[in-house]
Amino acid sequence: MALHKGTHVRAPGRGYSVNPFYGEADPVAGMAAEPPRHTLPDGPMPPHTAYQFVHDELMLDGNARLNLATFVTTWMEPQADVLLAECRDKNMIDKDEYPRTAELERRCVAMLADLWHAPDPASAVGCSTTGSSEACMLAGLALKRRWALANADRYPSRGARPNLVMGANVQVCWEKFCNFWEVEARQVPMEGERFHLDAASAAALCDENTIGVVAVLGSTFDGSYEPVADICAALDALRERTGLDVPVHVDGASGALVAPFLDTGLVWDFRLPRVASINASGHKYGLVYPGVGWALWRERAALPEELVFRVNYLGGDMPTFALNFSRPGAQVAAQYYTFLRLGREGFRAVQQNTRDVACRLAARIGELEEFRLLTRGDQLPVFAFTTADGVTAFDVFDVSRRLRERGWLVPAYSFPPDREDLSVLRIVCRNGFTHDLADLFLEDLHSLLPELRRQPGPLGRPEAVATAFHH
Ligand SMILES: *Cc1c(COP(=O)(O)O)cnc(C)c1O
Repeated sequence: MALHKGTHVRAPGRGYSVNPFYGEADPVAGMAAEPPRHTLPDGPMPPHTAYQFVHDELMLDGNARLNLATFVTTWMEPQADVLLAECRDKNMIDKDEYPRTAELERRCVAMLADLWHAPDPASAVGCSTTGSSEACMLAGLALKRRWALANADRYPSRGARPNLVMGANVQVCWEKFCNFWEVEARQVPMEGERFHLDAASAAALCDENTIGVVAVLGSTFDGSYEPVADICAALDALRERTGLDVPVHVDGASGALVAPFLDTGLVWDFRLPRVASINASGHKYGLVYPGVGWALWRERAALPEELVFRVNYLGGDMPTFALNFSRPGAQVAAQYYTFLRLGREGFRAVQQNTRDVACRLAARIGELEEFRLLTRGDQLPVFAFTTADGVTAFDVFDVSRRLRERGWLVPAYSFPPDREDLSVLRIVCRNGFTHDLADLFLEDLHSLLPELRRQPGPLGRPEAVATAFHH
């Protein structure tokens, strides 16, 4: 099954067309033939020709700086590029072969444990991952195993079914976790103008089979922070009432590297005793190119020892907790570089600037009579907006499509239950999206509006736009 469907616009079997200039028009080197696209070519081709084929095709990918859909880092400094290139052959699992890379991973974990106020940062446990998805799988597995150990009299023998409580706004990785590891996903629907999990609903869904509650800092749908401290307090009260002691995992994919610098008064992390684990994406507001995430547990007891594997076939005897075996080490070195390079003050300046751009852009869009803001970019530097009540000539999908004509990628999508009636546009501000670019964006948005207003009505929801939603 091909998960990524090829688009066979040309006749099937048609290979790459050969530019004789690129290929030196040398029949001996095989360049008179068209190399196939969907089967392995019979023989080799010169490296510069192969390079040119791949390079030319990739030119049609989007311009990352105009992509306001993704959370993932699209710019790093030249020095980081050098480090990444120097480390591209390093395999994270070969901790014995690359002890310094392993040491940098340990230091990053210690820095994050300190940043997130682990009670004893030196003994906090954690690891790097390929991203938050893997980190969430690991954190979810730890919750499930802790529950299974505590309920060995009922599970699996007597058929108790574990569940995980979350808002309907969770990122898709939590649905994956529940599906892959056979845990019931108990989702609190959105209601009215509440677009994320609230404390009372979370506690109300917990029972003796609840392995944990996931609180998201910040929601991918609108950039809002979930009330982690309130959720913990509601679970404390639940424990008082019923004896149920439900741990919390904070999915801080984005916010765990924003809030510690910009919202120092917000208590959301290991300062709350109920928070058992936290994840973050190093490749989102950790400011590293794609391929790194982090999972941390507040103390050893939160991560059942039996989930940690010790392998000695690469030499050494290093404990690992991961889904992958081999994995690039370069991003971990780049994360360490970013921590060292910016420090707390640098991170604060960079994230504050990004939030300023988000707040200002949101405010300007909010001033337009065509739109209504749902969030303002003052939590994650991310905001969602929809069309104002009186707007009937066009909808958010039309806006997204028209912006795309100017090169801007701004996804439009509908909200999850029970607000499927609400469709929004979302703008993710990242480092590198400057006030100047935001002004250019606003100019483009302004110039589209007269035509949009003249439409007879919304043009319908095109598949291509609806699928442009990247978490
Ligand atoms: C992006 C995101 C994820 C998934 O993270 P990846 O690093 O892309 O795997 C999980 N949860 C939240 C809240 C996210 O924003």
